[in-house]
Amino acid sequence: GEDAAVADVKGETVKSGPALPASPQTLVQADVVKDRLDTPPPDRLTTPPQKVECPQESPLLQGAVKLSFESSLTLKDVEGRNKGVSEGEYEPSDCTARQSVAVLIPHRSRERHLLYLLNHLHPFLQRQQLHYAIYVIQQAGDATFNRAKLLNVGYLEALKDYSWDCFIFHDVDLVPENDHNVYVCDKQPKHLVVGRNATGYKLRYKGYFGGVTAMTRDQFHQVNGFSNTYWGWGGEDDDLRIRVELQKMTIVRPPADIARYTMVFHKRDSGNEINKDRMRLLGRTPLVWKKDGLNSCSYETVLLERQPLYVNVTVDIGKPQN
Ligand code: BGC
Repeated sequence: GEDAAVADVKGETVKSGPALPASPQTLVQADVVKDRLDTPPPDRLTTPPQKVECPQESPLLQGAVKLSFESSLTLKDVEGRNKGVSEGEYEPSDCTARQSVAVLIPHRSRERHLLYLLNHLHPFLQRQQLHYAIYVIQQAGDATFNRAKLLNVGYLEALKDYSWDCFIFHDVDLVPENDHNVYVCDKQPKHLVVGRNATGYKLRYKGYFGGVTAMTRDQFHQVNGFSNTYWGWGGEDDDLRIRVELQKMTIVRPPADIARYTMVFHKRDSGNEINKDRMRLLGRTPLVWKKDGLNSCSYETVLLERQPLYVNVTVDIGKPQN
């Protein structure tokens, strides 16, 4: 809705929520007045207290943690550890979250990575006192992988469930190390990965915008989402940066000591070969972004499955055109 939370760079949230709900008395109609005289009024002490907005900084944060990836871990274990999550969704019980966040994870045959990520992300997001849901978008078939198009699908599908304030575009193999890296959106698009273990926790290059990013519903809509035309590895994140810059938005990042990730080791997947065409595609982004993106994203949902810990969307997104 239009009363969505808007956060500034420090994560401060201004919310103009709806007025308090009408008191039960105002809804009583004449024909039930007699009834009311016979039944005692509801005990004021038993009416649940109005939830207050969650604090600016969650008291549950733990800071940097040592990550472990147990090879014996099962999905049932992770489900057992996250009883408060239902159909991938969670909201704090004792306060109203400052933002409602959809985490979108593109995926194909990386079950182990997905399991590790879910195991870490659920408690991480709960400590951040967020209202969130996790969506896993799986590419059906064995055509070349297209991360960006899967993320467009995730955005469009998640909005059918709820009017999320903020979207986190999340690689399946990156696990956040520090819960002060809060998964909320800012006034500008936010890049959450400054460093990763494999590259000495250094930003890869100045314009790097890959791995994990956070954009509000409106920011992402304004850039027409990702391009749908990047098949295989690379370039789609640089394309999104160009779109953001064309809108005169600037990329913000959390401090380097917080925005740290561990990459779960893997070999290059088959079906996700390096996209050798990416430099040419990047050159035409300013000319095509308006008609290549959310507004041209055609797909067929093969399966929509509400699992305990995530919503699985398996989707046929077609194959490269040439
Ligand atoms: C690719 C990006 C990638 C980056 C860092 C660039 O050459 O185009 O997609 O994220 O390298 O690996």
